[in-house]
Amino acid sequence: MIYLDHAATAPPVREVLEATWPYLTQVFGNPSSAHEVGRAARAGLDAARAGVAGVLGCRPGEVVFTGGGTEADNLAVTGIATASGRGRHVVTTAIEHPAVLETCRALQRQGFDVDVVGVDGDGLVDLDALAAALRPDTALCSVMYANNEVGTVQPIAEIGALCRERGVPLHTDAVQAAAHLTLDVDALGVDALTLSAHKLGGPRGAGALFVRGAVALEPVLHGGGQERGRRSGTVDVAGAVGTATALRRAQAALPAEAERLTALRELLVDGVLAAVPRARLTGHRTRRLPGHASFCFAGVGGETVLQELEARGVVCSSGSACAADSEDASHVLLAMGLDADLARTAVRFTMGERTTAAEVETLLELLPDAVEAAGS
Ligand code: PLP
Repeated sequence: MIYLDHAATAPPVREVLEATWPYLTQVFGNPSSAHEVGRAARAGLDAARAGVAGVLGCRPGEVVFTGGGTEADNLAVTGIATASGRGRHVVTTAIEHPAVLETCRALQRQGFDVDVVGVDGDGLVDLDALAAALRPDTALCSVMYANNEVGTVQPIAEIGALCRERGVPLHTDAVQAAAHLTLDVDALGVDALTLSAHKLGGPRGAGALFVRGAVALEPVLHGGGQERGRRSGTVDVAGAVGTATALRRAQAALPAEAERLTALRELLVDGVLAAVPRARLTGHRTRRLPGHASFCFAGVGGETVLQELEARGVVCSSGSACAADSEDASHVLLAMGLDADLARTAVRFTMGERTTAAEVETLLELLPDAVEAAGS
């Protein structure tokens, strides 16, 4: 089986399993317990926090471990917007993951004013519209680093500079970027950043949120006050260790791995466009994630192409694992100006560290037949 769905989840990595195993077995203590069993778990948690902070270039105390990317996005958006003394206005973009967009909609139901900035045909955020949307009462701006469906990478440092100029806290969802792009929070100019372990070969249901010390954050989960009161609940130490190990490992492989994946992506994109006349690339041609190639195949249902490819031993997705059950066209592709019929033909190939050129070549051999079979 050829696995080309790394943006949905990446295969587990041995080094991560080895690092987490002790915390699932003998180092079982509650990290809040004062005795030695608890202290051993606390030491693992502290090391994990320092590991994440080392990658992000922040202080360990600015890292909050969460139960994954969705929770981190919810905490950032709700937590910063509600704690802000600036006002009740939030700015985001039309192509965010539902973990951000739906959280903004929930804030809207509570009386927040939400501005959703559009994107161009390549999925790049309209910076003039973004600048115009920022107001003196804007409590938060949230713009994703890289899009999960079309791979387009946003100019976050530029957006960070703009937000800083206006005094608006900036959150970025870096869930897809973390495997491929550097994450220095000062260079990016962000005040909050979301991570998810399972996109990096770590455990599902684990992640982290960076929140700059100077930014107020209202907790979403109330309880025992763990994570310095920002996320109550006994911390999943194995999840935290897994997150840190997976993140450090992925970032240590840069830039060589990003270069290798970019070459594979070019091979894939050029090959698909040459071999399948009805194929159209979605997302920016070059300002996209190294291992990400997404297409529309005009006139052929995306789900049918996936079935034909799976029957031939290749697994990929229609763009978003979360929307896989839904007949609705992708909100990202609609925001980029595609019509709904074309948007329903989306297919996404996402590569990772085990992907080889031979696998890409096999896909290129199989794809024309699969698309034709899907269209007949
Ligand atoms: N944000 C983006 C951009 C994603 O791609 C995903 C996962 O699909 C999430 C957030 C949610 O992360 P998690 O699956 O850890 O909840």
